[in-house]
Amino acid sequence: MESKKYVYLFREGNASMRNLLGGKGANLAEMTNLGIPVPQGFTVSTEACTKYYEDGKKLVEEVVDQIYNSLNELEKVTEKKFGSIDNPLLVSVRSGARVSMPGMMDTILNLGLNDQTVEGLARLTNNERFAYDSYRRFIQMFSDVVMGIDKRKFEDVLDEVKESIGAKFDTDLKSSDLKLIVNKFKEIYKKEMGEDFPEEPRKQLIAAITAVFSSWDNPRAIVYRRLNDIPGDWGTAVNVQSMVFGNMGQTSGTGVAFTRNPATGENAIFGEYLINAQGEDVVAGIRTPQPITKLKEDLPECYEQFINIASNLENHYKDMQDMEFTIEQGKLYFLQTRNGKRTAQAALKIAVDMVSEGLITKEEAILKVDPKQLDTLLHPNFDVEELKSAKVIAKGLPASPGAACGKVYFTAEEAKLHHELGEKVILVRQETSPEDIEGMVAAEGILTVRGGMTSHAAVVARGMGTCCVAGCGDIKVIEAKRTFEVNGESYNEGDYISLDGTTGYVYGQAIKTVDPEISGYFGTFMGWADELRVMKVRTNADTPRDARQAVKFGAEGIGLCRTEHMFFDEDRIPAVREMIVADAEEQRRKALEKLLPMQREDFIGIYEAMEDRPVTIRFLDPPLHEFLPTEDEDIEELAKDMGISFEHLKLTVESLHEFNPMMGHRGCRLTVSYPEIAEMQTRAVIEAALDVKKRKEYNIVPEIMIPLIGEIKELAFVKEIVVSTADEIIANSGMELKYHVGTMIEIPRAAITADEIAKEADFFSFGTNDLTQMSFGFSRDDAGKFLNDYYDKKIYDFDPFQKLDQFGVGKLVKMACELGRKTRPDIKLGICGEHGGDPSSVEFFHNTGLNYVSCSPFRVPVARLAAAQAQVKNPRK
Ligand code: PEP
Ligand code: MG
Repeated sequence: MESKKYVYLFREGNASMRNLLGGKGANLAEMTNLGIPVPQGFTVSTEACTKYYEDGKKLVEEVVDQIYNSLNELEKVTEKKFGSIDNPLLVSVRSGARVSMPGMMDTILNLGLNDQTVEGLARLTNNERFAYDSYRRFIQMFSDVVMGIDKRKFEDVLDEVKESIGAKFDTDLKSSDLKLIVNKFKEIYKKEMGEDFPEEPRKQLIAAITAVFSSWDNPRAIVYRRLNDIPGDWGTAVNVQSMVFGNMGQTSGTGVAFTRNPATGENAIFGEYLINAQGEDVVAGIRTPQPITKLKEDLPECYEQFINIASNLENHYKDMQDMEFTIEQGKLYFLQTRNGKRTAQAALKIAVDMVSEGLITKEEAILKVDPKQLDTLLHPNFDVEELKSAKVIAKGLPASPGAACGKVYFTAEEAKLHHELGEKVILVRQETSPEDIEGMVAAEGILTVRGGMTSHAAVVARGMGTCCVAGCGDIKVIEAKRTFEVNGESYNEGDYISLDGTTGYVYGQAIKTVDPEISGYFGTFMGWADELRVMKVRTNADTPRDARQAVKFGAEGIGLCRTEHMFFDEDRIPAVREMIVADAEEQRRKALEKLLPMQREDFIGIYEAMEDRPVTIRFLDPPLHEFLPTEDEDIEELAKDMGISFEHLKLTVESLHEFNPMMGHRGCRLTVSYPEIAEMQTRAVIEAALDVKKRKEYNIVPEIMIPLIGEIKELAFVKEIVVSTADEIIANSGMELKYHVGTMIEIPRAAITADEIAKEADFFSFGTNDLTQMSFGFSRDDAGKFLNDYYDKKIYDFDPFQKLDQFGVGKLVKMACELGRKTRPDIKLGICGEHGGDPSSVEFFHNTGLNYVSCSPFRVPVARLAAAQAQVKNPRK
């Protein structure tokens, strides 16, 4: 049996082999095929990496043999020999996953040098200084990157030698100094590793390749993968490439360039280079690089050739390229090309420009912008310069993006008060509850110690577009002392901190923020996305303000109006609490009477904001613990309002305590116990619709949505109340009004019996927050505490509350769609859980055939683009 191929020469690959060869390897192969001058080499595939892990972190003989075979081929092509004294082959070793991935081992240069080959290199180049300079760099890099020896140990020696001879720059060191440094470096190696520095080049090579493979699994790489949806089983490839030298004198150099400006998108070559330098000098910032245009003066022929190849590469890949090059004694080599990373502004400009240049189609342009990136255009950001020197004091969950800076306050009242006094405030709480809403509205940013990505603070903050870092267990809040502590330092009321809701970082100081700029490209680009997509995008909005914001961002309707959120206002909470704690129907009706006009006004506001667009209003679904008074003071006040004794009310509150409120008396269960609640809400929905219809002539068709249905009889029961109440009001009004009654599918039993449920439901909206919670059987409020252990142990790659678990929960969604359509072919299907704003989940919903996704206002543009991309990738009628 022929053995599997694990190693590919550059000439054996091409750009389409990215999964196997990694991005870097595939592009090096492609450039080789295009005839671009690339130092030759080979790629050890991602499958070899997977095998390395399967074999118990071992590079087995089969792979090693293939590496040696390719090395032989490389020796032939380059006419050099690995380990030869006369004509040594030196290589670089670089990691290269399918997508570029910071956090892994990066680069080793000059591999193959030892005490003999260094002499050969000196003779060949007629430059002893250059040879020993390369050698000392190699020993340091190999020791640091492959063996994990602290590089400061080497830097200290370098500084000592420089000081002892009075040298200011590395370039002042003579070859005798460098020889001394080499010896000292080897001593460090021996001391740290307990053995001599490996002189045998093949041993060096295998150690370096092994190090790249094991760096795939270092903690930084794992965290990066989770944040960027990169599966752990992809593995990385390793590229072994023959060295060319940019540090061989004044006709040599090295640099990095982009075909367009990665910050602004401007269509002009952008980059820098250094004459007589090796790659790491550009990055290390010891010498200041020159702008690439200066190369035109220094080495005009190289410049011209470079510009031509750069432009060919851009045309070939149809994307902005980020290239690394080296010039060795007047000869230009490309070491790497890849699609360049860019800011959101640049991404939009480049995509739109490339369409007008005729380089790409609108469909291709749509795929060029990462939907998640759009977020940065919609929120304030930190001033880049100030951020550089800022100190991170803690890290929590990046719950709601944006940057915020302000003075710390620990209660909603104080936050509100100081906001009214004109201060910028950051609200810091153990966790937030509905009572905090006004403080949250007043705050620039919210920081909580407890709670996950779907905690109250996170959901509400995202809804408002306010920056929020949640679940930041690093800090200890001592509310009574109005202070929080972290790393032995205290931050008191009135002290400045800054929050980055995109990364979860907390900074212990003020950092200037800048408002987002939305250029004209944004509108053009989003217009194309809207033309292309077939799935509609609605928003989750509970107030006219949020609804208007969402419409500005392109929302086509409301997919979820959580009516309990309307009760968070200070002046409403007493009535809501009265309703919850009422012992008798009469008392409950009294409380509901108070709420009816407020709800009606809310709905009128929302209908007006949404005009002709559809609005789905979900009936009350409060986990009771979010609303019950906990402080004696509040109980006292409420008792007075209700005309009952404090003791009686306290007992009632205690009796309402639930061990597991998420699975408690919430959703439609409340209406089963207290039908008058649904009656009041129906009245408010229908009366508001009639009112607005009469005044504004909008075509309003309310969609009433019943939460937490698990059994068809539950739905039939609630629907009967809704329909009888609504029909009576409509009949009495003398007007005509259509309305729909549908349900959320958020309990696994509802998904399983969706064919039954569809008999009573005009529409389904998947509540994937609860569906995830109940499918996995862990609470959305508590899972954050242990999910990190699951990522560490590689049981889960990502948070299923952020990115839909397509395999499990997704199966329920698919099944419910099929069953629902079987009973009612025209049933409208949507999703309103947090996943509605997550790009990969949106793609899944597109492929599943949903009619719309619904997400918080600030994610609407993200979902619009994700839906368009899904359609381009997998067209649907
Ligand atoms: C859901 O469960 O997905 C949902 C949208 O409802 P809520 O988050 O209000 O429970
Ligand atoms: Mg729910």
